[in-house]
Amino acid sequence: MINLQITQKFHQKIKSGVDLIDEKDINTIPEDGYARLACNGDFVAISYFSPQNKGIGWIVNREDREINQNFWVNLFSLAKEKRSSYFKSPLTNAFRVFNQDGDGFGGLTVDLYNEYALFSWYNPFILSQKEIIVEAFQTAYPEILGAYEKIRFKPSDYESAHLFGEKKEEKFTILENGINYSVFLNDGLMTGIFLDQHEVRDSLIDGLALGKNVLNTFSYTAAFSVAAAAGGSMSTVSVDLAKRSRELSTDNFDANGFDLEANKFVVMDIFEYFKYADRHDLKFDLIILDPPSFARNKKQTFSVAKDYHKLISDSLSILSENGTIIASTNAQNLSPAKFEEQIKKGFGPKKYKIKEKFSLPADFAVNIHDRQSNYLKVYIIEVLK
Ligand code: SAH
Repeated sequence: MINLQITQKFHQKIKSGVDLIDEKDINTIPEDGYARLACNGDFVAISYFSPQNKGIGWIVNREDREINQNFWVNLFSLAKEKRSSYFKSPLTNAFRVFNQDGDGFGGLTVDLYNEYALFSWYNPFILSQKEIIVEAFQTAYPEILGAYEKIRFKPSDYESAHLFGEKKEEKFTILENGINYSVFLNDGLMTGIFLDQHEVRDSLIDGLALGKNVLNTFSYTAAFSVAAAAGGSMSTVSVDLAKRSRELSTDNFDANGFDLEANKFVVMDIFEYFKYADRHDLKFDLIILDPPSFARNKKQTFSVAKDYHKLISDSLSILSENGTIIASTNAQNLSPAKFEEQIKKGFGPKKYKIKEKFSLPADFAVNIHDRQSNYLKVYIIEVLK
């Protein structure tokens, strides 16, 4: 392990509890690997450096201790204990069990999909530690049958692979709040469900969608629509540009025995669909807006940070009186304040009330000292007369 002298400023940042290391924190970025940080000759923290999508490394311990297999077994066990209520629930068997700096080590997440685990590696160094991490995980989770992995940095030789134990190559269903969702663990970076939205799905089940005609935009596998249907919606329309979404959405409705008359799927660019719905005088009581942070189609690019307001204003023309909008984004680079500006711009002179706000659920444990790590923003907005 190398020793590195750091500035007073970086020392203060570490003391404040932030774990993510930015380029501006140090003068020269060391090679990938662990580094013992000291300021004015005094030990500060153990860190590792490895470039990833955000930042160049992580603080992983404020004590001078070796990061060995025992350290990892302890981290996984603590993270497991923290989630005991999830493990006890007979209604849910898929959730996050390790979330980066929220569980004490940035660069790694682990999700459970019933009896299978999904590891996501966010930088080359953490990937190089695979062997000790996986062994430690198996010690803490002897009940897990098998695992897959996703490589979430570039460049990489592969995106998705089998990691250990039994294979589960076919689609299968997991249970979340009593609803079945069809998932897959070894096909690109996605799995059929975004587990971080489970509280929003819960609220759709628990009354938000009751009796409503629902439009689910950027619907992917229609998970929100399935939750709405479970919550007694009158109808749902799910719109996604990707042809494959039709089959995946049908799987999800079938998995719960929901009829496909009341729950429709449309393959279309959402901005085209807004025009189509307006032309045909369609009205919805609840519109869900959950776009990717960036999207490009043949004609245009869409970025949440610049264009979210268009989704709101387009929705307003097909929203029934006193309708509800669920405005959601997982854009890391968009602060809640900036998101609210986009919403305000979209509403223009129209009055609205933000009824409820969601951010990451408890299984997606965040570093409470670093607000940036809580990337999810979901607002339930009621349109007023
Ligand atoms: N809301 C979903 C996740 C959305 S993932 C959920 O909770 O499960 C983003 C989806 O947006 C992808 O399926 C992608 O195909 C779709 N998409 C991207 N650009 C689009 C566009 N212009 N119109 C419609 N769908 C789009």
